[in-house]
Amino acid sequence: MTSVRVPEHIASLQPYLPGKPIEEVERELGLKDSIKLASNENPLGPSPLALEAIREALPGIHRYPDGGGYYLREALARACALSIEQVMLGNGSTELVELFARTFLGREGAGLMADQAFIMYRIAVTAVNGNAITVPLRGMRHDLPAMARRVTPDVRIIYIANPNNPTGTCVTSQEMETFLAEIPDDVLVVVDEAYREYVTAPDYPDCTAWLKRGRRIAILRTFSKIYGLAGLRLGYALSTPDVLGAAERVRSPFNTSSLAQAGGIAALRDTGHVARSRDHNARELGFLQAGLIRIGVRFTPSVANFILVDTGRDGDVIFAEMMRSGVIVRPMRAYGMPSCLRVTVGLRPENERLLETLASALSHR
Ligand SMILES: *Cc1c(COP(=O)(O)O)cnc(C)c1O
Repeated sequence: MTSVRVPEHIASLQPYLPGKPIEEVERELGLKDSIKLASNENPLGPSPLALEAIREALPGIHRYPDGGGYYLREALARACALSIEQVMLGNGSTELVELFARTFLGREGAGLMADQAFIMYRIAVTAVNGNAITVPLRGMRHDLPAMARRVTPDVRIIYIANPNNPTGTCVTSQEMETFLAEIPDDVLVVVDEAYREYVTAPDYPDCTAWLKRGRRIAILRTFSKIYGLAGLRLGYALSTPDVLGAAERVRSPFNTSSLAQAGGIAALRDTGHVARSRDHNARELGFLQAGLIRIGVRFTPSVANFILVDTGRDGDVIFAEMMRSGVIVRPMRAYGMPSCLRVTVGLRPENERLLETLASALSHR
């Protein structure tokens, strides 16, 4: 039998490695009471209003969902003061990362991104046989001037995570303004704002302002993080009607489920849950960062709901040791930072256990 033929650009890809599910870790290591602080999920759980709406939508799941996601898009458009033609739904925002690459790269196109940003950008560009051009971070932040200098005529799309994953840093409104002024507007700038709701810095850009002024830009947002609906798979893009009209040709027709649409509408209304989640995160982010200083572990100060920690050792070893104690974090070798771990802000007892386990794993080596 011949082996299946995989094109070179696909064979060169490493599959995306998600955070290890609790069930898998417990099965493999025979553990109980593990905690997962590996995927930046909301420790307070989903919005109760979203759960209620999903339960109410259940009897209708023999029907296909509204392929156009009208009511949720309308609610999002209203919340963002944009028109419904400026909103597109995705099966998580990662689907939209891929959809934009498929729509805009063409045969010869390149995609530009930071070398230590969300790995899906590189996978999405490479998967459509595009050239993924990466630019080093500077002081753990996106180096927007350097990225602007790398824009060659073949670059069709630029991905910027703001805040960035895995560093937890963000670019300012002024930096974004300068950057956008330098980028030709036929290059699609995609700003991934998965963690935007956690940011309290006053100079954090509101990217919809550029959209409202007619600047062609795409903003990605998600219900997976502060809304606590990662398992539902729901994200959205805000952009210009011409960008979304092009992407609409490629979008899979029923990419968001009826349950996701119902849950999303209710979650959006549950501003109390978002506020509680934001307050909780601000408090516990402070607690964790103070704890890291106390145990003498270096980290990058974060504006999001996770922290990049530099163990100064082999991060895979520390990761494995912590996992044996039932604390699942994210090793960062795949991001080119082999001594680092990314830890998610959890509930207070989880954060205490994280600090203890990390300190103990470091003291053993
Ligand atoms: C978690 C995350 C997302 C969200 O992905 P979904 O597919 O919406 O769950 C998007 N971008 C970044 C940078 C993330 O860290």
